[in-house]
Amino acid sequence: MITVERQPKVPITDIEQSAFCRTDESLEAKPLIEEFKAKVEWQPLPKDYMGLKPDELSDRIAVARAKLGDQLMILGHHYQRDEIIKFADYRGDSYLLSQYAAKQKEAEYVVFCGVHFMAETADILTGPNQKVILPNMKAGCSMADMAPTEDALDAWADLSAVVLDGLIPVTYMNSTADIKALCGRNEGIVCTSSNATEAFQWAFRRGEKILFFPDQHLGRNTSLKLGIPVEEMVVWNPFKPLGGLTEDEIRNSKVILWQGHCSVHTRFTVKQINEAREKFPDVQVVVHPECVQEVVEAADMDGSTEFIIKVVEDAPAGSVFGIGTEINLVSRLAKENPDKTIFSLDPVVCPCATMYRIHPAYLAWVAEGLVAGKVANQITVNEDTAHYARLALEQMLSLKRG
Ligand code: SF4
Repeated sequence: MITVERQPKVPITDIEQSAFCRTDESLEAKPLIEEFKAKVEWQPLPKDYMGLKPDELSDRIAVARAKLGDQLMILGHHYQRDEIIKFADYRGDSYLLSQYAAKQKEAEYVVFCGVHFMAETADILTGPNQKVILPNMKAGCSMADMAPTEDALDAWADLSAVVLDGLIPVTYMNSTADIKALCGRNEGIVCTSSNATEAFQWAFRRGEKILFFPDQHLGRNTSLKLGIPVEEMVVWNPFKPLGGLTEDEIRNSKVILWQGHCSVHTRFTVKQINEAREKFPDVQVVVHPECVQEVVEAADMDGSTEFIIKVVEDAPAGSVFGIGTEINLVSRLAKENPDKTIFSLDPVVCPCATMYRIHPAYLAWVAEGLVAGKVANQITVNEDTAHYARLALEQMLSLKRG
């Protein structure tokens, strides 16, 4: 057996998650110099950009973008700030954005306003002539950071020694290119919250057991939907030898869940749902499947970000929604659907601290750099990793969307 006792190392991005939490509701950007007061790691920027007001930044981004024309494509994840999303040529969740990245082969520069693993995925799926840029290199994802490469490779080696046949690795899109490549090398697949059920079914047609990285909650909620009881799921703790499990527990399980979580979606609670129902008896509660099992079970519906948007947009005027997902999206839905009552289940305004690091000053800096012929913050995945990660991603893209 290969495992050794590890020193627990909580990702810095997880520790920093509450840095932007506040009780007032405004999500408006401030000059970057003021936002730097939040206790998170930021990528340093030239001084000229630090004091610019959001309006000034907006004007400069618009000018740079007009100069670049079709050379530039901006992708914006739904959890981005309004000051960023208004510049997105395409907005979407990680699934839709990965599809856009795969289809658009013309734009020379793809500026990905999202987090690091998304930019890696875009680099893997775009053509060799395209450059993918992440405006702020400190925009990671605390969940992806919970599955470091070395720990994942150790786990795979240990599990393969116990389960000799029929173990299929499945990774959530929210993981590094290395983890996706691990799946591609071992006949596994990538999934998103839009198609996790289909990906699990795909895996069970090929094997008997799934190792799911890195979100235990999406893995558990998906398995429950497929009728797998919790007794047949185990959680792999990467800090313990053999994940803290016995060989029998591994052999008797159907799904092995990596011990990772989203620091944003695990904030939602059953208490918040009960309070929303007391306040609004007609409320429909919709949550993301990265929420814990009890919250998903207490909600009326759960689904991906795109699912949540569709449910809200398709509802008749006067509908009331209590939503359990990232606050920038909830607040945008409320603005764009003024005939409905839409609110976040969490009364504390807590944006995703890594998505939030794409401040407009960074977008202005990379766009103006491109106008001047300088490519900053390019994300490149090495060819071997990209090859195997692409296999697992293409497998996902060939699934029917759920
Ligand atoms: S919302 Fe959660 S999973 Fe998504 S980028 Fe933020 S930390 Fe990662």
